[in-house]
Amino acid sequence: MTFTVRFWGTRGSIPSPGAQTVRYGGNTPCVEVRSAEGLLVVLDAGTGIRELGRSLIDRANGKPIRGDIFLTHAHWDHIQGLPFFAPVFQEGNHFTIWGSKAMETSIGRVVRDQMSPVVFPVTFDQLAATIDVKELSDRLSLHQAFDVRAFPVQHPGGALGYRFAPLTPSSNGNEPQRALVYISDNELSQTEHYESLVAFCKGASVLVHDSMFTVEEYRQHVGWGHSTYEDAVELALKAEVERLVLFHHKPERTDDEVDRRTDECRALVARRGGRLEILAAAEGLTLNV
Ligand SMILES: [Zn+2]
Ligand SMILES: [Zn+2]
Repeated sequence: MTFTVRFWGTRGSIPSPGAQTVRYGGNTPCVEVRSAEGLLVVLDAGTGIRELGRSLIDRANGKPIRGDIFLTHAHWDHIQGLPFFAPVFQEGNHFTIWGSKAMETSIGRVVRDQMSPVVFPVTFDQLAATIDVKELSDRLSLHQAFDVRAFPVQHPGGALGYRFAPLTPSSNGNEPQRALVYISDNELSQTEHYESLVAFCKGASVLVHDSMFTVEEYRQHVGWGHSTYEDAVELALKAEVERLVLFHHKPERTDDEVDRRTDECRALVARRGGRLEILAAAEGLTLNV
C-alpha cells in the first residue's frame, strides 16, 4: 500500500521568489499527502497552499473538496497561505484544521486573527466552506486511512512533528509499514528528548526535516529553532530512515547552493557507509511512500 507526497512550498520563514530560487521554489511550507484511496491531507498552510488550492479545484471538476490540514505551529510561514486557499471560498467544501493542543494561544484563535479586519478584507466567518478546527496532542486514527502521531519538537513557542502511516486492515502483517515523518521546524542540537525523537522517526520511508542552516550560520542563530544539514543527516542515519528530504530552505539559499549542500550531505552519508538517500525539497517534487 503506497501513498504520495507532493511539495507545494519548501522555503522557511518568508516567501523568496526570484531568479535564484526557481528550481527549489520560493513558497513557504505546504505539502500534499494522498492516501491510496485518495484521501487528502495537507501539511502546513504556507504560501504554497495557494497553488495547491488552484490545483485541487481543477482536479475536483466541480465536486466538493474535503481534506485535513495539519499545522505544525502558527508561525507566519506555516499559516499565511490559508486566506488565499481558494477552496475555502467555495460552499460545499469541508476542511478540518488540526493543531497542537499545547499552544499558548489556540490554533483556532491564531487562524481567525490572521483574517481580522485590520489585516485582511475577508473574515474567517465569511468563508463559504465548512471549516472545523481541532487540536491533538499525540495520536489519532484519521478516517481509517492514516495512523497519525504527533511529537513536540524544539522550536520557540512549540511545534509538532507528524508521523503518518497508512492503516491497512487488509494487510497480512508481512509488509513493512511505510511511513512519512514531517518535521518542518526543529532545533536538533537543543533537543531535550533526542532518543524519543529518534524512536519517533525510526524506520520511516521518508523523513522531511528542517535543514535551514550551515554550521557557520547556525552559530549566529542558536535558539532560533532550526537545524543544520549535518544534524538532520545524523538524525536520519540514527533513525535508519530510507530517504531524507532537506526542507525549510533558508530564504537567501540559492538553487545552486542547495545543490552544493545536498551533495555535501550525500558525501557525509557515504563517509558513514550509510544507505540513506538525500533529496532537497523542491516545489513539484512528488514521492511515493
Ligand atoms: Zn517555519
Ligand atoms: Zn517556526
